[in-house]
Parts: sequence; structure tokens; C-alpha cells
Amino acid sequence: MSVKISKMKTWGRYGAGRSWLRSALAATPVVFAPMALLILFITLFRFDGSLPDLYFALRDQGVWHVLDAYRPRFDLQTTLAYSCWVAFQVVLFQWLPGPRSIGQRTPAGHVLEYRTNGLRAWVVTHLALGALCWKGGLDPGFVPRNWSGLVFAMNLFGFLASALAFAKAHLMPTHLEDAKFSGCWLYDFYMGIELNPRFGDHFDLKLFTNGRIGMMAWTVIDLSNVAYQYQEFGSVSPSILLVTILHTIYVLDFFNNEEWYLRTIDIAHEHYGFYLAWGCFTFLPVMYTLQTQYLGRHPTSPSGAYLLVAFTTGLVGYALFRSVNDQKARVRRLNGDCLVWGRPARYIRTTYMTSDGWQHESILLASGWWGWSRHANYLGDLLLSFSMCALVGTTNVVMWAYALFMTILLMHRCIRDEVRGRSKYGTAWDDYCKRVPWRLVPGLW
Ligand code: NDP
Repeated sequence: MSVKISKMKTWGRYGAGRSWLRSALAATPVVFAPMALLILFITLFRFDGSLPDLYFALRDQGVWHVLDAYRPRFDLQTTLAYSCWVAFQVVLFQWLPGPRSIGQRTPAGHVLEYRTNGLRAWVVTHLALGALCWKGGLDPGFVPRNWSGLVFAMNLFGFLASALAFAKAHLMPTHLEDAKFSGCWLYDFYMGIELNPRFGDHFDLKLFTNGRIGMMAWTVIDLSNVAYQYQEFGSVSPSILLVTILHTIYVLDFFNNEEWYLRTIDIAHEHYGFYLAWGCFTFLPVMYTLQTQYLGRHPTSPSGAYLLVAFTTGLVGYALFRSVNDQKARVRRLNGDCLVWGRPARYIRTTYMTSDGWQHESILLASGWWGWSRHANYLGDLLLSFSMCALVGTTNVVMWAYALFMTILLMHRCIRDEVRGRSKYGTAWDDYCKRVPWRLVPGLW
């Protein structure tokens, strides 16, 4: 139910109202994230994942020489191939039929419609690439063979998309009332200005970039690395197969539940800037596939028992992730009128204001997983991330970078989500935190 109250300021992007200096400092990942990715790329691609070898090269040859000599290189053919891939995804996103889904109400009170054809797009993409390989038009090991040029192209597109988002927000914003200008252009470039930048009524840049560019690339890169391992070594190792299976479960879950994804923080709360644009064009495809990138070139052979434990842990993590997310989605969809773990759901009924002056009702679930911890879904994701890294079967630190990154990302998210929850729901959020005091793991944090 919604009630008209008055025009007022409402919750929104974290960071608004900070000093220019604090905003600029908060935006430093614009430099650090590409640098970190560059170092990861060089270590994995040029030094076989060995940090000591990278260290010796840096010491003996100098930092700038190493960075310049081993960085990703522009390659016209690869850039054209990548452009075709992006164009194909645009066509599927815009024209492939699919169900219509309704997104979450924005801080300004808009409720947007999306075409959630992601699962079909995933199937069409993989069938099309499979057919191309079958007919000899594409080398199945294309991705690892052209990795340097691809990483260059992904960076190029990531920066261009970030610049486009920044320019569009100034020149032709969609839903200006949901746009946030912090007063610091660097922060605006980094965290984004527009909440839901669109071309026309339906081409949603954020859903497109996150889903069709970031998530779609994940399984394509994995499968190409599996093919490469087969081409180079004549067999496919259990490690790379099991990692690819876990990645595929996660990606298919994402597309199968695309309507649910519209209610997650990425789509419902994050603004569209470098963080999401470069993040999904470049960071996600490179960082999230580290395991198969490594295994494609360096097959490992951990014991069957080890692989079984690591893989089962991954499945448990996925089951936890899905079960927690489903509980919240179901309780909200049924307005609290349902069972959670066999008992009537317990929740806090609360309200929030949108900047058009309307008051809306919402529910904060406080039983089931959501009564156990405020982010048990993140715990599922972390179990899954660690098991993906463990499946590689090496103590090489670089191979654990993904799990480390996810730990930092999700812990930071817990904190950001708290700030937003408090500003959106006020004392009801405080009540919820009193009832469910733990953020991630009861007794720990
Ligand atoms: P959540 O799905 O936990 O969504 C948080 C939002 O849910 C809050 O902002 C709030 O939004 C609402 N909410 C919070 N507490 C409650 C409650 N008790 N009852 C009902 N609603 C509540 O987080 P994310 O969107 O970050 O993550 C979604 C999934 O995606 C997670 O499983 C996460 O692990 C995964 N993920 C994966 C990433 C990856 O890179 N692989 C990155 C980030 C997330 P509101 O009230 O405004 O609706």
C-alpha cells in the first residue's frame, strides 16, 4: 500500500554529502582496480601465476618496464571479434522475446519494467558459439589464445561505457530525480550518477552490462579454457571440469532468476558508473575466471577425495545462497503470509518514503536464515567462492585472489547495506538489527 505524504529527501546513494576530498579518496579504485587487474594478468599470463617470479622481474627489470613489456596488447582482429560479441549481446538483449518483469521501486518512486530474456540469451549464445566452433568458423580455444588482446578490448569497452554513462547522465539522463550528483566529478564517474540509465524505454544499460556482458562472458571464458586444455594436453582434468560446473550452476541460476536479480543491491541500489560498467566489462570476466584461466594452461591433479570435498562444499554454498535468497523473495512476494522453516514467517512491517512524497510499505524478514544472520546469503556465496579456488588444488596465492576479493566485497557490502537500510527504514532497521544482531556469521561478526 502507498500513501501520499509530502515532498521530501529520501535514502539513496551512499556517499552523498561527503567533502570533495573524501569523495575523491573513495574513488581511488578507478586507478587501483585496473592496476590490481593488470598485475594479476601479468602474473598469471606472463609468469605462470608465480608471484616470486613477478617480484624478481620487477626487481631486476624495473616496475615500468615490466608493466609495459607484459601488459595486455591491442590487437585489431581480437578487438573486432570482441565488438561483434558485444553487438550480438545487444541484439539478443533488445530483440529476443522474453517475459516482462517489474523492478524494485526506486528512491524517486519509479517502478521500471524489464524484459528478462537472459536464460534464452544464454542458451542462444552458447548454441551459436558451439555451432561456430563445430563448423570450423571459430577456434574453441580462442579466448586463452587471444587473452592479451581480449583483456585490452574489455578494458577499452569498460572505460568507454563508464565515459558514456558519465556523459549521458549530464546530457540526457533517464529519470533525473533518481540521479545523484555528489559534487565531486571523480566520485560521480566512479560510483555513477544515474540509477537506471536507459536508451529508449527498455534498453537498460545496467542490466545489460551486468548480465549480458559480465555474467554471460563467465561461462564462455571457462568453456574456451576447457577446450584449450584439451587441445594442448589431449585431455580435460577433473579440476577444470568441476570448477566450470560450479561456475555454470551459478551463472544459470543468475539467468534463471533474472527477475529476482532486479531486487538485488546491484540493480535496485547501485548507480551506474565505472564501478559497474568497467567492473562488468573487465573486472568480472578477468577476476571471476582466474581458476579456469590457470587450469587451462597448467592442469593440476589433486586427489579424488580432495576434489569431492571441495566440490561438495561448493554445492552446499550454492544451496545456502539460493535458499536464503528464496526465503526473502517469497516472504516479500506473499506479503509475509507464508511459512519459513515450517513456521509462520516472523518479520517487521515497516514503511519508507520516496522522494515524490509517497510512503510505501515493506517487510524485513526476521526468521529462517534472515533471523540467523543478516546476510547468510553472502556466507553461501563465500563458501562457493572458496571451494572454486580450492578446486584448483594449489597453494599459489594468486589462485585464491578471487575468494579474497569476494570476502572483501561482501563484507564491505554488509556495512554499506546497513547504512542504506537505516536511512531507508529508520528505527525499524534498528529494531531489525537488535532482533538479528549478526551480520554474517553468528558469534563471529
Ligand atoms: P541481498 O540480496 O541480501 O539484498 C540486500 C537488500 O535486501 C537490502 O538492501 C534490502 O533492500 C533488502 N533486505 C535486507 N534485509 C532484509 C530482510 N531481513 N528482509 C527483507 N529484505 C531485506 O544482497 P545483494 O543484493 O548484495 O546480493 C544478492 C545475492 O547476490 C547474494 O546472494 C550475494 O551473495 C550475491 N552477490 C554476488 C556477487 C558476486 O560478485 N558473485 C556480488 C554481490 C552479491 P530493500 O529493503 O531496499 O529491498
